[in-house]
Amino acid sequence: MLPSLFLSHGSPMLALTPSSARDFLAGLGAALPRPAAIVIASAHWETERPAVNAVAENATIHDFYGFPPALYALRYPAPGSAEVARRVAGLLDAAGLGCDVDPERGLDHGAWVPLILMYPEHDIPVVELSVQGREGPRHHLLLGEALGPLRAEGVLVIGSGAFTHDLRRMRRGDGASEEAEPDVAAFADWMWAALAAGRVDDVLDYRRRAPFGAAQHPTEEHLLPLFVALGAGGMEASVRRLHASTNYGVLRMDAFAFGGDSD
Ligand code: ZN
Repeated sequence: MLPSLFLSHGSPMLALTPSSARDFLAGLGAALPRPAAIVIASAHWETERPAVNAVAENATIHDFYGFPPALYALRYPAPGSAEVARRVAGLLDAAGLGCDVDPERGLDHGAWVPLILMYPEHDIPVVELSVQGREGPRHHLLLGEALGPLRAEGVLVIGSGAFTHDLRRMRRGDGASEEAEPDVAAFADWMWAALAAGRVDDVLDYRRRAPFGAAQHPTEEHLLPLFVALGAGGMEASVRRLHASTNYGVLRMDAFAFGGDSD
């Protein structure tokens, strides 16, 4: 049984710039059983209600500005899967969440940056799932729960976001190192402790209960994929922290696996 994953995708430069997070992702694909397909919920696709893409081949969306040409030259032409998209939409419909199917959308950098490191051959079908920025953690937990059966069908469910994501401080250059600022570390430590202890209610209410919770996520979309992964992995299931590091002092790059091997 495959785990579900939460991955922090950081800056688009993760694809090119050496870091421990990049090394981790580059080794992650080989460390997992090979999936038949991938469903990846990305913080960079926000819609009013859930949506999946169903395309023959995924276009690579370079949804960022002011980066070096080498980054715009990267492509991730993984096949899509109308069949998996239909399955996702069916599961979400059955759960009462609804789901639109988008016949054109490709992969934004929240999806292709981790995948180009994990599966550089781009030979596994990929379906992208949107998040609903206004719907909050519990909605995304339910969304993930509805997708749980995919894991037994050999589909790798990934939520791609950021464990902390105060970009304003990154632009100000508060942190330039792989050393986490104290408040960033306090938030990440508290969240990991809550996840490890299975305190789902605490995690869901992170904006009020976690130290600096709302400050680490001025907008919520980059943490919402965590709840998709948590729901898909089964909330009673084991959680493993696969990776923990910091880029630019304020972007935590932590990754988690829910369910899977140690079930
Ligand atoms: Zn992002």
